[in-house]
Amino acid sequence: MNSNLSKSESNQSKILIVGAGMAGLACAVSLREANVPFLLFDRGDEVGGRVRTDEVEGYRLDRGFQVLLTAYPEAQRFLDYEKLDLQVCYPGSKVWFDNHFHRVADPFRHPMDGVKSLLTPIGSLWDKLRVGMMRLGLLSSKSMPDQFSTLTGLYEMGFSDSMIDRFWKPFMRGVFLENELSTTIRKFEETFRFFSEGDTVLPRKGIGEIPRQLVGQLPKENILMETEISKVDAESVESADGRKWMGKGVVLATEDFHANQLLGLDEKEVNWNSVDCLYFSLPLTDLPSDEPILYLDGSGDGPINNLTFVSTLCDCAPDGQALASVSVIGEKELGLQEIARQATKQLSQWFGGKVKSWKYLKGYRIRKAVPSCPNHPSPKPALTGVYRCGDYFGLPSIDAAMKSGRLTAESIIKKTAS
Ligand SMILES: Cc1cc2nc3c(=O)[nH]c(=O)nc-3n(C[C@H](O)[C@H](O)[C@H](O)COP(=O)(O)OP(=O)(O)OC[C@H]3O[C@@H](n4cnc5c(N)ncnc54)[C@H](O)[C@@H]3O)c2cc1C
Repeated sequence: MNSNLSKSESNQSKILIVGAGMAGLACAVSLREANVPFLLFDRGDEVGGRVRTDEVEGYRLDRGFQVLLTAYPEAQRFLDYEKLDLQVCYPGSKVWFDNHFHRVADPFRHPMDGVKSLLTPIGSLWDKLRVGMMRLGLLSSKSMPDQFSTLTGLYEMGFSDSMIDRFWKPFMRGVFLENELSTTIRKFEETFRFFSEGDTVLPRKGIGEIPRQLVGQLPKENILMETEISKVDAESVESADGRKWMGKGVVLATEDFHANQLLGLDEKEVNWNSVDCLYFSLPLTDLPSDEPILYLDGSGDGPINNLTFVSTLCDCAPDGQALASVSVIGEKELGLQEIARQATKQLSQWFGGKVKSWKYLKGYRIRKAVPSCPNHPSPKPALTGVYRCGDYFGLPSIDAAMKSGRLTAESIIKKTAS
């Protein structure tokens, strides 16, 4: 036995959870509710995994533009929406096409704007009727096979090229974080349902408040941050610096490839969808409007796919300043500085000469944003006696991550009780 292991800590009745992202946190909260003792480990300096907010030069920057959908069932179960002080996005967007922004609104929530949307060049009247039919459940992709990509599904439902190119592509690219809309039609269906059934929101202090709320329900002494786990078996975990913890069970709530590495499994790594998220600060007086609305590129010129002036939603900019979050989808070879330069050119086209005074604050290159899901993934069984959870067990999202964490905890609780 390695001499370092003599320092091993004995906690044999505990469940050892590796990974304090949304899956690991939901697992820990569920175990806590059932009075099952646990220890939660993460190599990061704060919980949240891919859901984090940084403070930079007086701004709050989410690590990539992401939103919570209030209709998420697990979010409803785990989160206190009121305490998160959720701020609601306008249900629609402004689409750049033919040198103008055109408003596309949800007619079910903003009937007047919805009627005006009928006249825009973003799709035909028939396309807009189809969206209405989808909202009413009269048109659906449910009978299509899982293997259908979203793009194929949209054509099958009869949408025209102009609607797909000018609206569905930029909108869904921003959701899937991939440019081809190769993501399974199941993910489109689920996302459309959640968008329709509730609001699209952000906590007032940024997306990172969501994991912070979950960790706030857990005893501090059960959480070990900056602890990278390098070895696991069904009853113990060992950190890279040689500490060892014994337990009653182990949950790997890491990304899929880390779980495979820890288990010594030689599985092919899943592909990932990627995004560059660029933040620009600007004087408050330069805001084109104080409406919390999504701006989309329907022209296909790029590099920007979508933009939100996040300071119209959240407290994320100092007094007198505003903050723009810009998403460039896909894996890029050019460096972030060059992407930011090209994005600035596009912003000048969109918002005019004042963009010269906007400052590029920081960029995040997120290579592994979400696992790509061309097909509906089938849940993988627990391997070698170690439990696993994470967003890759479902159609990847904050909700899917929390669901898999909860279900894992429930199977542990059931086993503990028997
Ligand atoms: C830019 C971006 C935009 C997104 N947009 C949305 C959106 O709008 N809506 C939505 O619902 N979802 C969105 N998502 C997806 C969502 O954030 C993820 O699906 C979800 O957060 C994944 O949670 P997870 O717990 O499965 O994994 P992770 O968050 O990756 O957590 C895994 C944790 O394991 C830890 N870990 C890994 N290996 C080890 C080890 N050896 N030892 C210790 N710790 C380890 C990591 O540090 C990490 O904290 C987006 C994601 C990104 C990145």
